[in-house]
Amino acid sequence: MLKKAIFPGSFDPFTKGHEDIVRRLIPLFDEIVIAIGSHAEKKKYFQEEQMLQHISALFKNESKVRVKIYQGLTVHLAKKEQAQYLIRGLRNTIDFEYESAIAKANQSLYPELETLFITTKPEYSYISSSIVRDIHKNGGNVNEYLPYVI
Ligand code: ADP
Repeated sequence: MLKKAIFPGSFDPFTKGHEDIVRRLIPLFDEIVIAIGSHAEKKKYFQEEQMLQHISALFKNESKVRVKIYQGLTVHLAKKEQAQYLIRGLRNTIDFEYESAIAKANQSLYPELETLFITTKPEYSYISSSIVRDIHKNGGNVNEYLPYVI
C-alpha cells in the first residue's frame, strides 16, 4: 500500500519552516498532500489561491507533492485522500500542548489516521505565519521568511 501523508495548515503564509518540513517528508512517503485549510468565517490575510500557486511552484519538480485547498474537518480530507498519516510540525512546548489536543480529537474521530510530529530545525523555529503577517501589514520586508517572493 502506498504511504500517503497529509500536511494540513492555514499556511497564511507558507514559510521556510513549512517548506523544510515538507522536504524532510519526501524520502519518507510515497505521496504528500499539502492541504491549505479554508474557513468561510475566518478570512485569510494572504489569498489562498495565490498561496496554492506559490507552494505548487516551489515543489513543481517533486512528483510526490501535491497542494490543495480544503474545507471542513481534516479527518474528512484524510479519508477522502485515503491518507494514513497526518503530519504536524512542532516548534516548542506551546505547539506541543495545542497539537496533542488536536491529535487526541482526531484520533477519536478517525482512529485509522496516525498523527506524526516532526520537530523544526532550530533556524526555523522562530518563524511563525502570524509574525510574518504582522511585519507585512506594517510595511516590513518578509522575504527572508518565505521560500518565494511576494
Ligand atoms: P495552523 O493554523 O493549522 O496551526 P499553520 O500554517 O500555522 O497552521 O501551521 C501548520 C503546521 O506547521 C503546524 O503543525 C505548525 O506547528 C507547523 N509550523 C508552523 N510554523 C512552523 C515553522 N516555523 N517550522 C516548522 N513547523 C511550523
